[in-house]
Amino acid sequence: MEKKDLDWGNLSFGYMKTDKRFVANYKQGAWDEGVLTDDDRVIITECAGVLQYAQTCFEGLKAYTTEDGSIVTFRPDLNGQRMENSCRRLEMPVFPCDRFVDAVVKTVRANLAWVPPYGSGATLYIRPYMFGSSAVIGVKPAEEYQFRILVTPVGPYFKGGVKPIVIRVSDFDRAAPRGTGHIKAGLNYAMSLHPIMDAHRQGFAENMYLDPATRSKIEETGGANFIFITRDGTLVTPKSSSILPSITRRSLVYVAEHYLNMKVEEREVPFTELPEFVEVGLCGTAAVISPVGKIVDNGKEICVPSGMADMGPVLRKLYDTLTGIQMGRIEAPEGWITKIA
Ligand SMILES: *Cc1c(COP(=O)(O)O)cnc(C)c1O
Repeated sequence: MEKKDLDWGNLSFGYMKTDKRFVANYKQGAWDEGVLTDDDRVIITECAGVLQYAQTCFEGLKAYTTEDGSIVTFRPDLNGQRMENSCRRLEMPVFPCDRFVDAVVKTVRANLAWVPPYGSGATLYIRPYMFGSSAVIGVKPAEEYQFRILVTPVGPYFKGGVKPIVIRVSDFDRAAPRGTGHIKAGLNYAMSLHPIMDAHRQGFAENMYLDPATRSKIEETGGANFIFITRDGTLVTPKSSSILPSITRRSLVYVAEHYLNMKVEEREVPFTELPEFVEVGLCGTAAVISPVGKIVDNGKEICVPSGMADMGPVLRKLYDTLTGIQMGRIEAPEGWITKIA
C-alpha cells in the first residue's frame, strides 16, 4: 500500500477528506449492514431531527502506526460502550458495541494510505457519529438515523512540543447535575462555543468548569478531564456524575496504579484545593495530556509549581508510558490494543 503524499510532520489538527467512510442507516426499527463509500456528503431532509433538535452524538479515537509498523487502535470497545450510553440518553437507537468496533476497523483498513507513519507525531483521527435523519417537527425522537465513521489524518495537538497552557475559571456552567454532561453529545459542545471563544479572546486556552450546583468543585474543561498531582506524588482526578468519562483519564489512572506504582484518588476536588497541587494536566484523546501552567480565577492567578516552561516530571512519566503503550514500545494491558493491519 502506497502512503499518500502528505507532509506528515506538519499536519494541523483539522479535517481532510480521505478515501472511504462508513455509513449505516436505521429504518423501521433496524440497522442495515452499512457500507464503505466514497461519498463524503450527507443528504437529509431539511426537517431532520438533528437539524431541528440537535439529536446527535459522537465519539473520537485514533489509529496509530506502531514501532514495528503495525496499525492499531486504542480501546475502541470503550468508545463503543460510551456511544451506546450516549444514544440511550438521547433516545437514539444503539449501534451495538461489537458492530461499532468492527466498523472502526473496516474504515481504517479502507484508508490505510492515510495513516501517518511511526515517528511523525501525526495520527489518524477516527470520528464515529450518529444523528436523527428523518423529519421531526413536534418535539420527539426521529424515526430514522444514520451512523457514520469518518477518518482524517491529524498532526500533534501541540505543534513544536508540549507547552503548558493558561486557563481560566469559567463564569459559564457546562453541565447540570442530572443533565447530559456524562454523554458525548453535540449539544454539550454547541453551548461551549461561546465560553471557549470568549476565553480565547481574553487570552486563555481553555475554560475550567466548576460544578453548577455549588460552584465549589472542579469538573472538567469543554473537552478534556483534569488530572492533578499532589506534593507526595498521588494522582487526583475529579469524580462527578456530570463529567464525561474520558478513556484517556481512565487509562492514565490504570497506568499510574499498575505501571508507575502511584496512589490514585478519584474523588470530589474542591476548587480551594487547587493551590495544593504541584502538577495539573488536561487529558483526552486529542492531546493525551496537556499541562496547565496557570489558572486564572477572575483576575486571581494560581501558578502551578511545575511552571510554564515544560510538562512536570510526573505528568511526563504518565504521558511517556501511555503513548509508549499506544505506539507499541511498552507492553499493553490485555485488550487495550486492537490490531488493524
Ligand atoms: C471526549 C471528551 C473528553 C475526553 O475523552 P477521551 O475519551 O479521553 O477522548 C473529555 N471531556 C469531554 C467533555 C469530552 O467530550
